[in-house]
Amino acid sequence: METDLFIGGKWVSSAARFDVLDPATGDVLASVADGSVDDAIAAVDAAAAAGPAWAATAPRERSEILRRAFELMTARAGELAKLISLENGKALVDARGEVAYAAEFFRWYAEEAVRAEGTVATAPSGANRILVVRQPVGVCVLVTPWNFPAAMATRKIGPALAAGCTVILKPASDTPLTALAMAAILAEAGVPDGVVNVLPSRSSGKVVSAMLHDPRVRKVSFTGSTEVGRILLAQAADNVVNTSMELGGNAPFLVFADADLDAAIDGAMVAKMRNAGEACTAANRFYVESGIAADFSKRLAERMAALRVGPGTAEDTQVGPLVNEDTVGKVDSLVRAAVSSGATAVTGGSRPSGPGFYYPPTVLTGVESGAAILREEIFGPVAPIVTFDSEDEAVALANDTEYGLVAYVYTADLARGLRVSERIEAGMVGLNRGLVSDPAAPFGGVKQSGVGREGGHEGMLDYLESKYIAVTW
Ligand code: NAP
Repeated sequence: METDLFIGGKWVSSAARFDVLDPATGDVLASVADGSVDDAIAAVDAAAAAGPAWAATAPRERSEILRRAFELMTARAGELAKLISLENGKALVDARGEVAYAAEFFRWYAEEAVRAEGTVATAPSGANRILVVRQPVGVCVLVTPWNFPAAMATRKIGPALAAGCTVILKPASDTPLTALAMAAILAEAGVPDGVVNVLPSRSSGKVVSAMLHDPRVRKVSFTGSTEVGRILLAQAADNVVNTSMELGGNAPFLVFADADLDAAIDGAMVAKMRNAGEACTAANRFYVESGIAADFSKRLAERMAALRVGPGTAEDTQVGPLVNEDTVGKVDSLVRAAVSSGATAVTGGSRPSGPGFYYPPTVLTGVESGAAILREEIFGPVAPIVTFDSEDEAVALANDTEYGLVAYVYTADLARGLRVSERIEAGMVGLNRGLVSDPAAPFGGVKQSGVGREGGHEGMLDYLESKYIAVTW
């Protein structure tokens, strides 16, 4: 298991180290090098030095390196899943799903690397040609969260490398081991020294700020909370650094009375319980049409109550512990506040005693409008249910948030489904589907959920600048 910094193609130790904990027990899992500001600048040196040669590589060569990275990840899926489960806590079944999803970004961008097309047009005046070429942005700082330690890294590294950029990845302090394992895989796949650097650090604020104020850094791509996103947007303003922001969500899950209830329950389980609810795409608020709300709540509670909770690494676990004490504490306090304001916990609702950061799958009914649990990201296995009586009311409730990442809509009426999808203020909609994430599709949010898109064709454009050459020939 790699535990040092990865800078300029070498494993570099550091004076300070920090502990990574096992969320199932709270015990120390590993001690990881704690990158300093000097280490961060050394990583920028390495990325800047490697930049011109990497940008000049044949797109096919970059494509084949990414393809090899996909194959290596796929061949090592079992050990990577175990590592993710160990440091993040998620159930192995979720960790395996993450590895497959994460590897797909390398495959998809291996295919996109050879398709960075420009355009040529005749100026309307007829005087010249308008030639547009795509060029890599340059050195990119990538900052990722702990909830998908592999996929959030590959979703950035894949398109950055395909575009010809070099990167410094700053993984979350709770889950640096997966990022370091990815560095080793990329090196083995043939990524030249300095093209990918990985810098775990407990001093995230200082280290990232130092990099964003280094004039050689041209882009920051961040996935994490809206709160930290705002800080980085402000810092990026100083040097007018290109930004991509994948921030928090507060996904509404709408179920109309005409919906196929079996499908809606299946979709709700996926949208809520993938990763034990620790996903920016997790359904955070369930709005169910009054006539079917009792039936929906009862059936969802039965399915939630039947889930097996246990250590993520145990083969039969369906819901692992949450990542850390803060996360489980926040979930617990949101549920307590809702219940003390009149909500009913149909299943779950209280934190078990004992070691580890466990919280049981929970369904709440009778949640009052305006409750904190409907406004904040829960980031845990809790489903609050609220009823509605009309389409207009459902849309208004869905849009009553500063977030706009994803929404889910269940209805048998496709015209209504599309109409509601268009009216909802979100970057993505799952229509009769509880899962939207796909490396081939543009993932991202509107409002305070973010800026830019990851995945799909758009994902690589975020790492390319369009250069316009006015030419007379
Ligand atoms: P977070 O606290 O915002 O941390 C994200 C990353 O930023 C971590 O690497 C963290 O490092 C670093 N960081 C923290 N403070 C920083 C600062 N002042 N300057 C620079 N970097 C800083 O988020 P999280 O708790 O890890 O992740 C959960 C959040 O991510 C949720 O809000 C979720 O919705 C969001 N998310 C969004 C998407 C999306 O695609 N929209 C996907 C996944 C997650 P440390 O770990 O060292 O603090």
